[in-house]
Parts: sequence; structure tokens; C-alpha cells
Amino acid sequence: MKALVAVKRVIDYNVKVRVKTDESGVEKDNVKMSINPFDEIAIEEAVRLKEKNILDEVVVVSIGDNSVKETIRSALAIGGDRGIHVMANIDLEPLGVAKILAEFCKREQVDVAFLGKQAIDDDFNQTGQKLAALLNWPQATFASKVIIKEKKALVTREVDGGLETLEANLPVVITSDLRLNEPRYASLPNIMKAKKKEILEVSADELNIDYKPRLKIVKVSSPKERGGNVTMLPDVEELIKTLREKEGLI
Ligand code: AMP
Repeated sequence: MKALVAVKRVIDYNVKVRVKTDESGVEKDNVKMSINPFDEIAIEEAVRLKEKNILDEVVVVSIGDNSVKETIRSALAIGGDRGIHVMANIDLEPLGVAKILAEFCKREQVDVAFLGKQAIDDDFNQTGQKLAALLNWPQATFASKVIIKEKKALVTREVDGGLETLEANLPVVITSDLRLNEPRYASLPNIMKAKKKEILEVSADELNIDYKPRLKIVKVSSPKERGGNVTMLPDVEELIKTLREKEGLI
């Protein structure tokens, strides 16, 4: 059985994002970039399934400019077998990404497509769902546990106030939630090995797919600064007194 794992290059989650002065987007020059954290969880899950001999091969796909090769290498260092870099010099929207991923799910005849539940830069949370719709495959999103057995996937999902377990026939699209696993640190030998793994480069334009964005970013702005008007009160009694007598709020 084969899995495809989609990984996106995003601004590292530790970086304090700065808005460009012309408000057209966020500053990405000289900013630390990393694999989207949910995609790191997705690759870890696929690699664990391979280590349990449930999967035979894990193929990593990323769409973007030349810099995403580094993101693919990070996923290969965790244990992916080979990579596919779909070269595109514009930022794609979820529909464009899903169309391209659908093409590679078909070409590679994969049994499971693993994605992150959302990319932490645009926060769309759409690509996995659109991919499942385009392929007409079942989808199990926000996975916190995955069992694959006898051509079926049993996926536990985090839903409001509890957990839901779904069963789906393969092939299936699964998107990872935070508690699915804790990704390993890639060891130095594995980072070295990843440098030798195959990465196929394909131009998005050669695929005959309309991946053009449908949306135009009108403006990006920083959240309002929080007011510095904070008063520390010694205890709850004083808080209640202040809310009642000074603020007239209760
Ligand atoms: P989104 O729907 O944009 O929040 O992204 C959900 C998931 O889709 C991500 O966690 C990735 O697994 C995948 N994805 C989004 N954009 C890309 C991309 N450019 N290349 C590869 N995978 C992507």
C-alpha cells in the first residue's frame, strides 16, 4: 500500500509575523520557514504505518517555488521514501492545490492521502476536503487516531465535546489533528540519507490543470494593539467591589 503526504512550506510557528508596510501581505524575506506543523504530524503518521509494515511506500508532495525542496527534504528526513516537487511560482489556493494533489493521487495510485488539517499561514482548512471531493474518496478530517486494516481505515476524530470514530474503505483522504502523534526529530544520519532520496520535479504548467487563484488579497493588517489600561487587584472581593462600584458593570 502506498501513501501520499502533502507538505506545505510556511513561516515557522515561532516567528512573530510582520505585515508588509504596503499591507499587501506578510514579510517572508529572511524569515525562518518550516514544514507546516500539521503536515509534520501527517508524515510522522505515514512513516509509523510504514514501520508497522502496513504501508510499503510514502511519497511526499509539495507545490511551490524552488524553496519547497527543503521542505520535502525535511519530510524525507522523517522517513518519507521519495518526493515530488510541483513547481509553481505563485501562491496557490486550496482548490488549485487539491486539483494538483488529485492528479498525483491518481498517477501514483495511492491508498491513503495524508494532509494536515490546515496550513498555519492561510488557515484555510479546505484542501483535504476538496481533494476528497475531486477524487470522490471518503474523507476523515481532524484525525487523532488512525488504524488501517484490511483495506479499511478506522479514524478517530476530534469533534466538539468528544471523539467520533469513522470507518472508511480505502482509498481515503485523512487530515491530521494536533494530537495524532508527536513527530520525531530527524536524526543527523536520516538528514544525510534524505539528501540522497529522489525528488521528481514537475512543472505545474505541464499538468494541464487550471490552478489560477480565484481570490485577490485586498489588504492584510496587524491586529489592534491591546490597551495598556490594566489594574492589578489583590483578590476576588476587591474585583467584585470594583466591577460593582467603580465600573458599574454588575
Ligand atoms: P489548507 O487547506 O490551506 O489549510 O491546507 C491544508 C493542507 O493542505 C496542508 O496542511 C497541506 O497538507 C496541504 N497543502 C496546502 N498547500 C499545499 C502546498 N502548496 N503544497 C503541498 N501541500 C499543501
